[in-house]
Amino acid sequence: MEARRRVDEPRSQFWLMSMRCCLMAGSVDVAFFFIFHYLGSPILAWINVLSVGMYVIAYWALKHRHNRLAVLLIWVEVIVHAALGTLLIGWDSGFYYYLLMFIPALYAGNHSLRSASIAVFALWLFYVGLNTTMRFVEPIQPIAESALLGVYLFNLTCVFIMFSYLSLYYITTVKKAHRILGHMATTDPLTHLFNRRHMIELAERDITDDAGQTVNVAFLLMDIDYFKQFNDRYGHDFGDRVLCEISQILSATLREQDYVGRWGGEEFLAVLPHTDTQQAQLIAERVRAAVAEHDWMQHGLTTPVTMSIGVSHHRRGEVLSDSIVRADAALYAGKDSGRNRVEVATGGA
Ligand code: GH3
Ligand code: MG
Ligand code: MG
Repeated sequence: MEARRRVDEPRSQFWLMSMRCCLMAGSVDVAFFFIFHYLGSPILAWINVLSVGMYVIAYWALKHRHNRLAVLLIWVEVIVHAALGTLLIGWDSGFYYYLLMFIPALYAGNHSLRSASIAVFALWLFYVGLNTTMRFVEPIQPIAESALLGVYLFNLTCVFIMFSYLSLYYITTVKKAHRILGHMATTDPLTHLFNRRHMIELAERDITDDAGQTVNVAFLLMDIDYFKQFNDRYGHDFGDRVLCEISQILSATLREQDYVGRWGGEEFLAVLPHTDTQQAQLIAERVRAAVAEHDWMQHGLTTPVTMSIGVSHHRRGEVLSDSIVRADAALYAGKDSGRNRVEVATGGA
């Protein structure tokens, strides 16, 4: 059961990226096999065959969620390959560049900050050790100067491409996460309307223009009538479906310029920019009628769902909460007068 869930879970972006890196690194090593054969360095050529094998196994391990094995293989491959390449043909081969690719990967992976920093420090020691060693020992199997330059440029180019890919991947992932978080922070998860916090942000922005002057804005505060009874009679899930259905009716009935959010449990707030009280009252009436005349029978209801609506218009210099309090008072006057009604708050344009 546990194993099955692990396989069914979507792969995290980090591991998908690691799989792609295995493919890229494996392809580079295939190219190296031919390059070093051509350059007459058979040991390095056959090291690459081993490397390709390790990347194939690492890819398979990642695919089957043996992440630890994959990470171990990738680390060993890169470190041993960089060390052997450098020892055989010299520091100027540029194999050390591949070591640097671990630094962002270690911090972006699922490691703690402490363990990532320790691994980066170990990597730094290895890098410095290799560099210092090569100042005192000659390469074991040197190749021609021009061939060495070719290998260096090839390594440099591969690392540029891989870093570009990783950076692009990283920024795309961050932007995507930012978009998702932004959506979660502004949207009600049940109805997919704006949530209360976002409605306040938008309405605060809309009650004053760029010069700080009050503009023509109306508010509709809407509350479902006797909603508790629907829950009690048909269950909470049914109540949730009614909330979603009403949300769709509101979105479809309001104008393009208006916006609506879930204000509380079964209360909704609509903001109507550039709208005076009379226009707002007409729109509120249209919304009320659209809800009451909706085909609720198809949901198995014998009586329609209705809403009471309080309308207020923003007064010059008034804070947002006061406009909404007046809409709320009008709404409750509507409830007291029998529900399924539109009531307009006193004051405003
Ligand atoms: P009124 O006409 O006076 O508004 O009566 P009401 O029953 O609608 O008012 P009341 O405030 O007593 O009840 C609101 C109900 O809304 C109570 C609560 O269980 C229900 N409710 C609030 N949020 C949700 C929700 O997310 N889903 C469901 N299904 N019900 C909710
Ligand atoms: Mg209520
Ligand atoms: Mg209610």
